[in-house]
Amino acid sequence: MQALRADTEIQFVRGVGPRRAEWFAKVGVRTVGELLEYFPNRYEPAQGGVPIGELRPDAHAAVIGDVIRTRGRDGPLLVDITDGMDDLRLRWFQPTRAAGLLKRGMRVCASGRVTVFGDRLEMVQPETIVLSPDEPPPPMVAGAKLIGVYPGEGLLKPALVRRTIETVLLQPQVPTVQVLPPELVKRRGLLSREAALRAMHEPRNEAEQAHARRTLAYEELLLVELGMALRRRRLGETAAGQKLLCTPEIDRRIRARFPFALTKAQDGALREIVRDLRSGRGMTRLLQGDVGSGKTVVALYACLLAVANRKQAAIMAPTEILAQQHFQSIEKYLAGSRVRRALLRGGAAGRRERGETLAAIERGEVDLVVGTQALIQKDVIFADLALVVVDEQHKFGVLQRHEFRGKGGRPHYLVMTATPIPRTLAMTVFGDLDVSLIRGSPPGRGRIVTRVTPGARWADVLKFARGRIEGGEQAYVVCPQIGEEEPATEDAARKEQPPPQKAAAGRPVRTALEVWREVTEGAWKGLRIGLLHGGLKPDQTRKVLSDFSSGELQAIICTTVVEVGIDVPAATLMIVDHAERYGLSQLHQLRGRVGRGARDSLCVLVNRGRAATIAGVTPAGERLTVLARTTDGFEIAEADLRLRGPGQLLGTRQHGLPELRVASLATDEELTEQAREDAFAIIAADPKLSDPAHAALRAALRRMFAGRLALIDAA
Ligand code: ADP
Ligand code: MG
Repeated sequence: MQALRADTEIQFVRGVGPRRAEWFAKVGVRTVGELLEYFPNRYEPAQGGVPIGELRPDAHAAVIGDVIRTRGRDGPLLVDITDGMDDLRLRWFQPTRAAGLLKRGMRVCASGRVTVFGDRLEMVQPETIVLSPDEPPPPMVAGAKLIGVYPGEGLLKPALVRRTIETVLLQPQVPTVQVLPPELVKRRGLLSREAALRAMHEPRNEAEQAHARRTLAYEELLLVELGMALRRRRLGETAAGQKLLCTPEIDRRIRARFPFALTKAQDGALREIVRDLRSGRGMTRLLQGDVGSGKTVVALYACLLAVANRKQAAIMAPTEILAQQHFQSIEKYLAGSRVRRALLRGGAAGRRERGETLAAIERGEVDLVVGTQALIQKDVIFADLALVVVDEQHKFGVLQRHEFRGKGGRPHYLVMTATPIPRTLAMTVFGDLDVSLIRGSPPGRGRIVTRVTPGARWADVLKFARGRIEGGEQAYVVCPQIGEEEPATEDAARKEQPPPQKAAAGRPVRTALEVWREVTEGAWKGLRIGLLHGGLKPDQTRKVLSDFSSGELQAIICTTVVEVGIDVPAATLMIVDHAERYGLSQLHQLRGRVGRGARDSLCVLVNRGRAATIAGVTPAGERLTVLARTTDGFEIAEADLRLRGPGQLLGTRQHGLPELRVASLATDEELTEQAREDAFAIIAADPKLSDPAHAALRAALRRMFAGRLALIDAA
């Protein structure tokens, strides 16, 4: 056989050929190099090359023996082999071609699962290789103790994958190129790429497999972090930031605006922000913290710092409602202050007012502007914009670099997100940003108790809630958003027949409208109940919210529109129907609508998933109990990451994260940190990766980020 290279097409590997090559292509394996990176899902203990007398039932084993007898004219094909001490029977109900060729006296390697038949051991349907005297024993016999079980797909059977990989690994050299610089391999105690690949496929023991995995995971993470370091460097190079200074006097004046002392967590985040703002380099910082943890206050501090430096600041919210809420709370803090602030409305609302606001912004007669995406429209020109706060809420998967127009260069960016992102994910997906955390919440909040309840107890939930509502509490009932327009008014809702809604899985899902009808005519008859969903016009939404806020409405039945930042501190009851349909992080966001005041709150998660009564057994039940256990958003996000993976957690596939084959963002936190440290050091020393020692890294980086990030062109 010709020597195989990493770029040799898979069809040229012995035993493959063009037809099977197509099966391999279906799982993305076209070359020998790609085959070597097609790793087992799991491993089974194998007894490799053990004497027949030591075989254990159920083990996956490989033995070598001489054929002493074959029989199979009627019934199954039986071949007995011996290793000189003991005999073993091989049994085929459907003889393979190779098995049909076995003859007495041949030396054969048989591998497969050991089973018990009567009182003796057998191998059923084993794979066999006839060995010639000069042929080295196959690797699994030569010492491998774990057998990889490969993911198969369609015609591509796991056994074919394994056989093909074994063929490749029979070569004295694994065809691969070392990517990690030797110095790093040594310092981090890793294996060479060649040794790691060999050990991933044919580990002698678990420790060796773990070492191999660690090596390859580190390599992946290093490449991701190199990408981040390069992107960061580019941002840093182009974005010189304005220097904003914070004197003790300014600090004192800003703090005096708040009717409370900032928490330790807020102070910690502020220290990092203030350091960035005075550094002269552009800040791009992610401010993470649960809903209600006090991010807005921190952001406002930063804005006031910009204003104290005689510059402009802007706060951009995802919706009109949120922009208004931000503006109102800012008005509250800034009552009587000389800071000139404006709410920039989008759309038709007050076109003339908008013109005046724009002119004032351009002349520098407004210090602090709050608005939506409208802030980045062409006609918005700032006189001297130094800081932009972007309130991303839960939409952090689509983080954009907004183009703000103005004189005086690019502004600093502070991005607020209310969905805590696990550290590893933040380091990879947003690895080019700095991250500040606000963990915990300001003092004086009530507790939130969370209960998971099966759908069968819906009526009890409503009855119990009615009692509490009559006792003066206010409630949200959240229903899944189906994506259909719902009638815009309650009157229309009364007239229409309930549309037959089906969930994707085929089980029916009740809409907000249906639930609203049910409760207003049933369990909650006589209570004042509003209906809120995405199909309402902005002023209808505003009306429902302000009625709820004022206590006019005792409960609202709503879709997930409430997830984004609605703030009614008096609401203390949250019922989420079909809780099984949401991710943990989303449920955590929803739950954040209650527990905002001093009173204790209750959150009921109604699980209508299958077998919902056995909490902790079904995946839905197990997931939901995480919420009952903790209110720490970071813990919840980590659980979400473990249970559903980064794609789900980010809510979008467009997060720019390359696919990781080996590394796990859920468990490789320490390794990610090491890789990040090393990557940033490498880029600091060799910003273009032009050192010949980094050539392989550079090539691998280009492959990993191919077409995804325009960052390598800088390298
Ligand atoms: P977030 O933006 O993270 O949701 P906010 O900054 O809006 O949180 O704060 C939530 C609530 O907590 C607001 O009502 C705010 O006035 C209050 N708050 C913020 N910081 C503190 C603090 N240090 N002490 C007491 N209350 C605070
Ligand atoms: Mg807020």
